[in-house]
Amino acid sequence: MTDDLLTRAHALDAADPLSGYRDRFITPPATELLSYLDGNSLGRPLEATARLIDEFIREQWGGRLIRGWDEGWLEWPLTLGDRLGAVALGAAAGQTVVADSTTVLIYKLARAAVDARPGRRKVVLDTDNFPTDRYVLEGIASERGLELVWIETDPSRGVEPSQVAAVVDDETALVLFSHVAYRSGWVADVVEINRIVHAAGALAMWDLCHSAGSVPIALDEWGVDLAVGCTYKYLNGGPGAPAFAYLRRGLQGELRQPIQGWMGHRASFEMGHGYEPAPGIRALLSGTPPILAMVPLHANLDMLAEAGIEAVRAKSLLLTDYVLELADAWLVPHGVEVISPRDVTRRGGHVTLRRAGFRELLEPLWDSGVIPDYRRPDGLRIGPAPLSTSFAEIHQGLAVLRDLVEKQR
Ligand SMILES: *Cc1c(COP(=O)(O)O)cnc(C)c1O
Repeated sequence: MTDDLLTRAHALDAADPLSGYRDRFITPPATELLSYLDGNSLGRPLEATARLIDEFIREQWGGRLIRGWDEGWLEWPLTLGDRLGAVALGAAAGQTVVADSTTVLIYKLARAAVDARPGRRKVVLDTDNFPTDRYVLEGIASERGLELVWIETDPSRGVEPSQVAAVVDDETALVLFSHVAYRSGWVADVVEINRIVHAAGALAMWDLCHSAGSVPIALDEWGVDLAVGCTYKYLNGGPGAPAFAYLRRGLQGELRQPIQGWMGHRASFEMGHGYEPAPGIRALLSGTPPILAMVPLHANLDMLAEAGIEAVRAKSLLLTDYVLELADAWLVPHGVEVISPRDVTRRGGHVTLRRAGFRELLEPLWDSGVIPDYRRPDGLRIGPAPLSTSFAEIHQGLAVLRDLVEKQR
């Protein structure tokens, strides 16, 4: 049985049109890294990224010094935003910036959105969204005297359109949900939820942290109003890489974000009195952009453009199919539960497994070079990044997990 599954892994790798991309990543020795199953938490770096960073430091920072700002750096938040929009978000130019962190951008956009709907005092969110999304909205609600309306989410699924329809009304200013749920990997029905939200006259904001670079996104076509996401997960930007924000063009004159810094000013370098927002998407910026931390994105977006998000998604589904196949053969008989959608139309880029006692397996897994991600309570997330993960690698990692589970029993 084990051999059959390994033979399948080799056949899937041989038939994989994206298998060559794996060689572009920095590869530590197998004693250190046997199986990386956490691409949904921190993507691996490319060899090209190491070269670009070195080149940037020596030539641009070291050579050009402050001239670099005029020679392009000041435009990076917008040019990289446009490129990200084209490659991964389905967003036409002029609607996306790269800046800050996801947390800070959630604050800026959500505050702008609720202020643009005065008189509406409800904000809708769900109990299982990522903590930072919930905490930021709690802060905004107390700052602005708003009421939070909580949708109770099934942690093995995600937000459903019927749940949204049951709570939005003419008092709702804003809803915020995740496109792909960080825990279960559930893909929300963005189009249908937006339709419901817009019919009530409210604004729809989406967190794309777990979908950007993994699941195709069509922000313009889906009628999304506002969106945020990070670049260090499936976009391989590196620890603490800046986030991105999307603000639909039609709302740009109307929404005003609260952190009025000089980089979002109409004329940053006139150093004048009084804040006047820049026209267009630049008004989402606040302070000096984290240029050094944006360098890796150039290499990653080139790679994603070359591979194509549709091909990435096709491989991602084969990878998670294979994870499910191994889980059913090796782990489910030992009491492990799959708490992610099996339906491919609702399954994101990762699969979550649950079993009491998983917490104690994390250390021995890491010691063996097998790196999944642990989420309380008792959840192991298996997140194979399509461009850096092979099927054989999944087999190796889950075989170690299987042996540990068997031993634990
Ligand atoms: C990873 C993640 C974040 C992270 O926010 P940071 O500001 O980068 O820490 C936010 N929301 C979701 C849904 C995430 O998955």
